[in-house]
Amino acid sequence: MTKQQAEGRSCAGCGVKLQTESVDQLGYIPEGALAKEPPVCQRCFRIKNYNEAASVAIDQDDFLKLLSGIAGTNSLVVHIVDLFDFEGSLISGLQRFVGNNPVLLVVNKIDLLPKSINPNRLLNWVQKQTKAQGLKVVDIVLCSAKRNIGFERVIESIGRHRGDRNVYVVGATNVGKSTLINRLIHDYSDLERELTTSRYPGTTLDAVHIPLDDGKEIIDTPGIVYMHRMTEIVPRDVLGALLPDKPIKQLVYQLNEGQTLFFGALARFDFIEGERQSFSLYVSNALQVHRTKLERADELFAEHKGEMLAPPSREQLEEMPAWTRHRLNIRRGTDTDIFVSGLGWIHVNGASGALIDMHVPKGIRVLTREALI
Ligand code: GDP
Repeated sequence: MTKQQAEGRSCAGCGVKLQTESVDQLGYIPEGALAKEPPVCQRCFRIKNYNEAASVAIDQDDFLKLLSGIAGTNSLVVHIVDLFDFEGSLISGLQRFVGNNPVLLVVNKIDLLPKSINPNRLLNWVQKQTKAQGLKVVDIVLCSAKRNIGFERVIESIGRHRGDRNVYVVGATNVGKSTLINRLIHDYSDLERELTTSRYPGTTLDAVHIPLDDGKEIIDTPGIVYMHRMTEIVPRDVLGALLPDKPIKQLVYQLNEGQTLFFGALARFDFIEGERQSFSLYVSNALQVHRTKLERADELFAEHKGEMLAPPSREQLEEMPAWTRHRLNIRRGTDTDIFVSGLGWIHVNGASGALIDMHVPKGIRVLTREALI
């Protein structure tokens, strides 16, 4: 079979259109596997042969089509979000799209927060933010798929809420969906049975159905790509510096007004106005933070971007959107985080208030929120 022929064909496992170009997009099949008959995409191949889910992604429009396909089913929707990128990975409008189906919110990567944080306080915070986003959920479970924390509670909650329904797992990319599904497959599933075809009526979207012991299925949907997350717009080799893999150690900076912090060449924080105060940074500890004077900041960036101020490299920066400025007025007496989707957040102890400019690549979501820690 030639490459072109392959690309006109569909995966025998999940029905997706096959393609040989992008590993992390739906329907990827390595060129070497094209000769096999019938052809299956890499995602189905891995689940079938290694009991292992792999991450694949689709864009927002396709994802919304997929979600509205769920509305017509009787299912439990398990929505996985990343605690480190909570507002960036929450699917806004999920409620509208999944109809009357119950939503279970699984908040992953809690291992990244300091151990000292009170779990009840954390849960309260998540409840409040979820409500503020207009998402009604039947339960919220905090866990770490990677460190195997809270996983029995995830299983227990799914068991309690699914009844005799199928389980759809939805989430943005990199939230740990595959890691979690892999655990579900190992603990829960009966892979002696075949993976089934899973086209959504009226759409060209595909999901992988993983059979459960009781004849029901876990349905793994592709991860949604949100371009408002820093993790989506950086080159792959920069992703490692952005995604923390160990508990984040907060970095505390005592700053005077007129001082600037660079986060590599990914973002810039200007303390424009306010009394001398401390700012706590919760970002991946692999990221280099550089302090300078505000009046020197433009010049420093022009001279040193991609070198002293890195990642990304100079060439990579040319491929990324230019920065835009977000002006944030942190009011006196508020305990606030400045949240930058995919990068992390900066805690401002608002005892005296502060005027801040945050520079980030255009399109990246910046917001203020009640402090998480
Ligand atoms: P998916 O794109 O949602 O399927 O996400 P993956 O399961 O591929 O995980 C994305 C990244 O997050 C990988 O680098 C994982 O190792 C990491 N990851 C997944 N779960 C956790 C977790 O509980 N804690 C931490 N710290 N990292 C995790």
